[in-house]
Amino acid sequence: MYAGGVMRVIPVPCLSDNYAYLIVGQGQDAWSAAVVDPSEAEPVLAAAEREGLRLRAILCTHHHFDHVGGNQELLERLGELPVYGHVSDRGRIPGQTHGLEHEQAFTLLGRSFRALHIPGHTTGALAYVVDGAVFTGDTLFAAGCGRLFEGTPAMMYESLNVRLAALPDDTLMYFGHEYTASNLRFAAHVEPTNAAIAAKQRRVSELRAVGAPTTPSTLRDERATNPFLRCDSAEIARHLSGRLPPRPSPIDVLGLLRAEKDAF
Ligand code: FE
Ligand code: ZN
Repeated sequence: MYAGGVMRVIPVPCLSDNYAYLIVGQGQDAWSAAVVDPSEAEPVLAAAEREGLRLRAILCTHHHFDHVGGNQELLERLGELPVYGHVSDRGRIPGQTHGLEHEQAFTLLGRSFRALHIPGHTTGALAYVVDGAVFTGDTLFAAGCGRLFEGTPAMMYESLNVRLAALPDDTLMYFGHEYTASNLRFAAHVEPTNAAIAAKQRRVSELRAVGAPTTPSTLRDERATNPFLRCDSAEIARHLSGRLPPRPSPIDVLGLLRAEKDAF
């Protein structure tokens, strides 16, 4: 019987600031792993070998090359593996075998996974929820969110503040890029008296000083520090005043924050 405890997740730094992740299986699958967003094959294979893990599946959060760039080589080196992504990303994710819908559940490595469709950064963006953790790709970062390449502020608002925000506070949040320090600079700019942001900036600079990753965050931390989850903040509304329409909606706030961050 599996001893329980926190699910083992191994961040694998890829390219200049990407993270792939190995999710370790449970029970009979404890020597197996699924990889989330293999930007490149080599660091993922090296991490799996170092940890004594056999790769069983590829989970893709979206079709961008810095998340799926290693798919083809992994398939060539390891043989056929299931490759998961949103159903609408068929043809955009190399080797995709499984097209998931919003809220679709599946079992892998003895663990129960659930897909959340979280469009905004791309139209096919997915989060994977498993055992108290969520893998958010480029949709939700620590203290930030992805650019709206294919979606609208309304889509991103729903994805962040309705779909992801429904998860429990202590959910561990694993994100796609090490952008935390610069995201926090923007968060402090739009909400200068938020003490949680200042405290997180201190923790993050300690981690970065020794080259440690800032992943994972928690949804609790994000609710306290991430401006894109804080569209009802009075201080953010003051920061945006003059740019907001009369009786602004939280979607107006998110759209203006995202546009300001694009040029920050
Ligand atoms: Fe992306
Ligand atoms: Zn990316």
